[in-house]
Amino acid sequence: MSEGTQAPAPGAPAAPKEQPAKVFTGAVYECVRCGTRTTQEELAKLPEVKCICGYRVFRKARPAVVKQIKAI
Ligand SMILES: [Zn+2]
Repeated sequence: MSEGTQAPAPGAPAAPKEQPAKVFTGAVYECVRCGTRTTQEELAKLPEVKCICGYRVFRKARPAVVKQIKAI
């Protein structure tokens, strides 16, 4: 007697999970309390959106890298 060996049902297509790219990479957020700037990517790494000061309210700030175009 063979002991129950159940093979997985064939024919199930493996659908790759793609995360929607909703966030804009490079976006910089600034804590409204202490003014610490962090990027969207940094916030995404954290388990929760929270500043180092404990505040959780951010406002969108301009990226640190600013191109200056010299007017001729
Ligand atoms: Zn803060």
